[in-house]
Amino acid sequence: MSVELTREDLAKYPFCREAVKYVKDVGLDLQDLFKPGYRVILERAVKRVRAAIELGKINTDLSDVDVELLSYPASLFILSIIAEPPLYRRYAVAEAKRIYEELKLEDDLKVKYLAESNFKWNVKIIGLGLFELHFQDYLKIAPSFRALNWKLVNRDLSGGWVKVSRGELSRLISEMVKLSIIGKSESIVSNLELPESFRKTVDELKRLYEGYRRVFSFEEEYKGPVVEEAFPPCIRRILSSLLKGESLPHMARFALTSFLVNVGKSVDDIVSLFNLTADFSENITRYQVEHIAGFRGSRKKYTPPSCSTLRTFGLCFPEDDLCRRVKHPLMYYKLKVKGRGRKSGR
Ligand code: SF4
Repeated sequence: MSVELTREDLAKYPFCREAVKYVKDVGLDLQDLFKPGYRVILERAVKRVRAAIELGKINTDLSDVDVELLSYPASLFILSIIAEPPLYRRYAVAEAKRIYEELKLEDDLKVKYLAESNFKWNVKIIGLGLFELHFQDYLKIAPSFRALNWKLVNRDLSGGWVKVSRGELSRLISEMVKLSIIGKSESIVSNLELPESFRKTVDELKRLYEGYRRVFSFEEEYKGPVVEEAFPPCIRRILSSLLKGESLPHMARFALTSFLVNVGKSVDDIVSLFNLTADFSENITRYQVEHIAGFRGSRKKYTPPSCSTLRTFGLCFPEDDLCRRVKHPLMYYKLKVKGRGRKSGR
């Protein structure tokens, strides 16, 4: 069944081929952006970049769908003038989040269509909000996620097809868009003749970016590789129960979430892990994870319970010598990561 995309759809999904054709047909030239009649597009593009820098998040604005759609290539143009690859990454993540949020609300046919027509993936709808994606297509993108639930060995795989929820397919699509935006950072054009007023706007964005540069690099470094092989036995045991779809007692959920938050897993990755539980509610889970990560309420980031507390709750399963030497699961993780580094000569 074919799917007709509306202009609103094109504004929400400016990466899709229909949107690209629409922009081409409009015949918008980069130099046009500096004409007074196009100022509104440039302003919206600046807002997109600004939101990515300040909030790491862009909201869709459909008050004028043409402006929304045309501001997308215009914002990529601005990034190419600023010519900072980390800013491209920041922007790409913010666009990917926006697209993911939009896709999750779409009907299954549209999500399937966007995946097939833009990336040539093989997708089947097998139930409400449930799809199968051919494993070869799955492997093109899923390995870029670090969470264990994205690993092919942990997936429901049958006859070469991987079962994915609508949320997961949306995540895979948005990741493709993210990677394609990051890829554009290789074609930076910073030597264009720019009108004075636009040059000023770009300089302002550059200054804003400079102010956040250290925060970005801290975030990128902090998120750095999470070494799953170094997880302590208690956390591995809880994680494995979760991946099997077993329901977890409150203390186990808290221990797992707070541990993952402290070793640098993103809120999105942690939320998608809980996606496998029978009683999963994305809103409730996200709220709880953000609370534990210190993004809500008291703004306090929680640390996991100590070994003695986990023992009291029947969640301690010591397996090796290291467990005898530590009093806290995070200490186990740190020592194990250090030990690995020494072995590999880092
Ligand atoms: S001793 Fe500590 S780190 Fe080891 S399994 Fe028990 S709770 Fe986890």
